[in-house]
Amino acid sequence: MQGGERSFAQVVVPSPLNEPLTYAIPPALRKSLRIGMRVLVPLGKRKVAGIVSDFLAQTPRQQIKEILAVLDDRPVLDSSLLKLIDWASHYYLAPVGEVLATILPPALRVHSLRVLAAKPGAFPEAGELERKILEQVRRRKGRLTIRSLARIVPEKRLNRALERLSAMGALEIKERMSSRKSMGGLESALATPPADGAGQHGGSPQGFTLTPEQEQAMALLGARIEAGGFETFLLCGVTGSGKTEVYLRSMELVRRANQKSLILAPEISLTPQLLDRLDERFPSRVGVLHSALTPSERWDQWWRILDGRVDVVIGARSAVFAPLPHLGLIIVDEEHDSSYKQEEGLRYHARDLAVVRGKLIGCPVILGSATPAVESFENCRQRRYRLLELSQRVEQRPLPSEEMVDMRGETRDGGRRTEDRERVPGRRSSVVGLFSSRLKEALQVNLARGRQSLIFLNRRGFANFLQCRKCGYVRRCPHCSVSLTLHLREHGLYCHHCGFRELVRDLCPGCGNPSLTALGFGTETVEQEISRLMPEARIARMDRDTTTKRGSQERLVRRWQKGEIDILVGTQMITKGHDVAGVTLVGVILADLSLNLPDFRAAEKTFQLLTQVAGRAGRGQEPGQVIIQTFAPDHYALRYVTSHDYKGFFASEIEFRRALNYPPFRRLVGLRLEGPSPQDAKAKAQLLGDALRQHDGPGIHERVEILGPAPAPIEKLRSRYRWQILLKGENSPSVLGLAKRARALFPRSHKTRLFIDVDPYNML
Ligand code: ADP
Ligand code: ZN
Repeated sequence: MQGGERSFAQVVVPSPLNEPLTYAIPPALRKSLRIGMRVLVPLGKRKVAGIVSDFLAQTPRQQIKEILAVLDDRPVLDSSLLKLIDWASHYYLAPVGEVLATILPPALRVHSLRVLAAKPGAFPEAGELERKILEQVRRRKGRLTIRSLARIVPEKRLNRALERLSAMGALEIKERMSSRKSMGGLESALATPPADGAGQHGGSPQGFTLTPEQEQAMALLGARIEAGGFETFLLCGVTGSGKTEVYLRSMELVRRANQKSLILAPEISLTPQLLDRLDERFPSRVGVLHSALTPSERWDQWWRILDGRVDVVIGARSAVFAPLPHLGLIIVDEEHDSSYKQEEGLRYHARDLAVVRGKLIGCPVILGSATPAVESFENCRQRRYRLLELSQRVEQRPLPSEEMVDMRGETRDGGRRTEDRERVPGRRSSVVGLFSSRLKEALQVNLARGRQSLIFLNRRGFANFLQCRKCGYVRRCPHCSVSLTLHLREHGLYCHHCGFRELVRDLCPGCGNPSLTALGFGTETVEQEISRLMPEARIARMDRDTTTKRGSQERLVRRWQKGEIDILVGTQMITKGHDVAGVTLVGVILADLSLNLPDFRAAEKTFQLLTQVAGRAGRGQEPGQVIIQTFAPDHYALRYVTSHDYKGFFASEIEFRRALNYPPFRRLVGLRLEGPSPQDAKAKAQLLGDALRQHDGPGIHERVEILGPAPAPIEKLRSRYRWQILLKGENSPSVLGLAKRARALFPRSHKTRLFIDVDPYNML
């Protein structure tokens, strides 16, 4: 739309409205206003900041309000990001304002503050509380907001008192905008210091020659980057095959073409190592976005990126919305990782949005993984993505040798039982059978040779639960339908879902007997057992419990890299991003944990997890060895891990998905009903289920299957009861159509709420 016709603007405001709102543009603002700028607009009684998403020439019928002010001198979102917002809002059935709120850093979401101003005079009719308020307001002339006053006086009484004061004419409530133009200072703290010697610009500091497979991948990527245009590549490369090197060189090509790159990585693998490698190649030109940033750091990064002061942005999930101008390449590392799926608010999948963004801009997208998502590999088979393969490790290093130990044999052997444990609260445990003799021996040999070992168990804590031997009582979380996990070091029982904790008691709360027994095991148990078996080893543990303090994980990794730890025990956290040459042995304590979850992706997730953890072995000169303990040695997911055969795994898995009508052959939408009342959640779920079944769109029931309603596997979570309905559709239009219908049918209920999850990942 051209200048003269700009009389009206569509404005997206951060609110649960499904469409942008229309406002009139005052003549004085018409010249300067552009799409993507923030404006201040009236919304009900409030004033809020919104983003101009379009201009309209025609006069809308109804009376409309005017834009009050323009908040920026240039757009904060470009047109491709606005299109992405629009796309996400339609696809994920989320209000466009909610998408906007997800994207903008908090500091850009301007709010109006209500500031109090006192009038002169005496007001004898004021009560005690009212006088106290007046005193506060007078003391801080024109600087006291309602918010800060609320901290001094309890909210409920406060509002009534304020109303009375303003009715008496003692007080005025003025509106002021909180706008922070710049927060300074941090920028320099965050910017990477220039590298020593400075002559490295543009070159590849590592002088190694690419492997033939890397060469081939680069030839195809290089051609596409040069030609421009959208195309999605799936870089399928075994661990240690040099995928990261391919990303770095592609980004260098993009920079040479004066364009910028965006690389997404799972939060957990945004390790100092990866950031160091980026800094080395792009000194002072790397922007970083992740969840540990404070709002002001986030704000500074946002402007650095928007101003074009970086060439590369690396970030976790939400960085898919990074405001990079001249974006020429998007990379998604570990594209199969489930942390790309946001599980609250806007339930988006960052990998999928990365591909959409590439398409909207017209730039190439690289998805990389050793174990691609089944959906992604199927997209290669359908020729929607182009496959680039790296089947060999660099420098002809061998893949680790992998073997399985059948724990069914181990448990029979001499009556060892993993579950049978001594009483708690307790001193040292003596868990027999946690380690097979094979793994024990290998750990001892590796230690004697001065090599490092990793032990993986994807469960924290000391015992899964505490049970009374006399009455069978099991301590459960009061807020969730799960048992509490025992953590020995803190001497507490923890809920792994909501964080609830309590101290361990000596007596059973059920029958009063001192007969509580710890059952099951976790990383804490493994750590304790290994120190008992090998007292001379330097042992450390890496899981959520040992890495809560800022920087603690980083310190652990540095020690690990320097060889100061012989045996590292850990959860999923140890599986990614770490490239430690001294590690030659990886032991997996119980491979079955993730196999047995009620989730159609259980086999896929297990294959991915174990391949990742096994890939930590033998990355240096010495070959690696992997020992996997399991009760299900015949499961195909495990067999293909040990033979390093992704394609074999895919071939089995895709047949399972086809037979049971799961993605990628069907599209899923989860409808989840959540509320504080178990009866209401169930009743609403049944009502909705019935309504959907009776709904007769043309041919809808041939194209969409309705499963449920049924209680979610974890029915109670954080004191909310959860029921779900699963829609399985032939294609996304039909399944989204019915989900939209559900949204329209579901009454705006105070008690039970409906959450719509398009392409759900979390089936629990
Ligand atoms: P991946 O991301 O596939 O696990 P990386 O890119 O991290 O693999 O490469 C593993 C290691 O090998 C890194 O230390 C990297 O610097 C090195 N490397 C990458 N490509 C080559 C190559 N062509 N020759 C020698 N070393 C390489
Ligand atoms: Zn809980």
